[in-house]
Amino acid sequence: MAKKNDKTEGKKLAKELLVDRKNGFFSVSDTKVKKADAFCEGYKEFLENAKTEREAVTAAVKIAEAAGFKPYDAEKTYQAGDRVYLNNRCKSLILTVFGTEGCKDGVHIEAAHIDCPRLDLKPHPLFEDNDFAQLKTHYYGGIKKYQWTTIPLAMHGRICRKDGTTVDIRLGENPGDPMFTISDLLPHLAGEQSAKPLSKAIEGEKLNVLVGSRPVRDENEGDHLFKLNVMRLLNEQYGVTEEDFVSADIAFTPAYHPCDIGFDRALVGAYGQDDRSCAYAELMAAVKIKTPKHTNVTVLADREEIGSLGNTGLDSNFLHDFIEDLADAEGLKVRHVLAKSQCLSADVTAAFDPNYADAYEANNSTYLNCGVGMCKYTGARGKSGTSEATAEFVSKIRRLFDANEVLWQIGELGKIDGGGGGTVAMYIAGLNVDVVDVGVPVLSMHSPFEVVSKLDEYMTYQAMKVFAEAE
Ligand code: MN
Ligand code: MN
Repeated sequence: MAKKNDKTEGKKLAKELLVDRKNGFFSVSDTKVKKADAFCEGYKEFLENAKTEREAVTAAVKIAEAAGFKPYDAEKTYQAGDRVYLNNRCKSLILTVFGTEGCKDGVHIEAAHIDCPRLDLKPHPLFEDNDFAQLKTHYYGGIKKYQWTTIPLAMHGRICRKDGTTVDIRLGENPGDPMFTISDLLPHLAGEQSAKPLSKAIEGEKLNVLVGSRPVRDENEGDHLFKLNVMRLLNEQYGVTEEDFVSADIAFTPAYHPCDIGFDRALVGAYGQDDRSCAYAELMAAVKIKTPKHTNVTVLADREEIGSLGNTGLDSNFLHDFIEDLADAEGLKVRHVLAKSQCLSADVTAAFDPNYADAYEANNSTYLNCGVGMCKYTGARGKSGTSEATAEFVSKIRRLFDANEVLWQIGELGKIDGGGGGTVAMYIAGLNVDVVDVGVPVLSMHSPFEVVSKLDEYMTYQAMKVFAEAE
């Protein structure tokens, strides 16, 4: 305690008793900033290669295999240090590094998602109207529809033909590729449209992708010649017919390439950073960790953006069943393993945006360049639709981060009753696991071009790594 007449008492006391929140660039070393910049070169490459959940699985498997991960075989016996992966239907992925203590004291789980808002094709997508060939889409995830018009789009995904053969498509990403776009009304004629609320100005049924405007030449000018020409080109290139669209996972994504943002290059701008920023941080942690004490389980899940439903999402048994296999192999009961397990649910959080300050409560927001963002709970209204980490578990995690110089912050997703959102945390908490949300703050979340901080991305990687290796 400072002396009575000490004029610096306030400063000293404040240091002792008050939270000191400041921008990371006032506390982090130059070396760490350089490391963050270098880390994000790999991150941008991952974003470029992983624009859909399928592509993310392919890119992650490639990185994991290069680091010694092998396909998981439930019949095999594994030793500490062994590295395996389980590919769930090419849409979600589990990576595991076996620990010296196995899973008897629980496993450490890091969970992120690799699906992103996008425009999927309907089963009968192709139509022509006034000499335009277009594809009808059905949006996936929460989007502001107006943001998806008049931008360059790329086509990604897989078509499975009737005979069971498949073809993968990725068009609009390489130099020289054609791109696609959705038209919007010129301002001169948009008087009526501009008077509508944002949510009504562009309707879901107007998100039609322009894909062709030259017909098959036929002197009889028959019907469908514009549509037919598109189908002819698709058939020549990919060997598919119109009916093959019924068994396809095709999405249109923004055709932007990841890049640095700002004169200082402090930020990364790209599509799909919710939640591939956390997925990459987790993946690199799984690849880089030394043999941990407790078996480490990294999950890259699908379907989070629509509520985690489906057999590649976390509201299914695939993670539980994998951990049950690990438990069985050690002669343990899965429920006992889960009850002792811990999880970082790695998902992005909304970064405070000074242009829309009214949507946030400044004292309880996360900020760009202030480190990995923790959320004790997400949800909406009176904390509904969310799990909440216990005080004990949050204490444990902040102690771990501080001991390892991981820059972190904590906040909520905007003002009370302003809206809300959820993550996979509640599904993992539902398995009787201790879980807290920890992830990268994002500007313009769910837009075609999201922005994150390189320092925050690197700190999220550090957070995942120290957790994976923790006692
Ligand atoms: Mn997310
Ligand atoms: Mn999201």
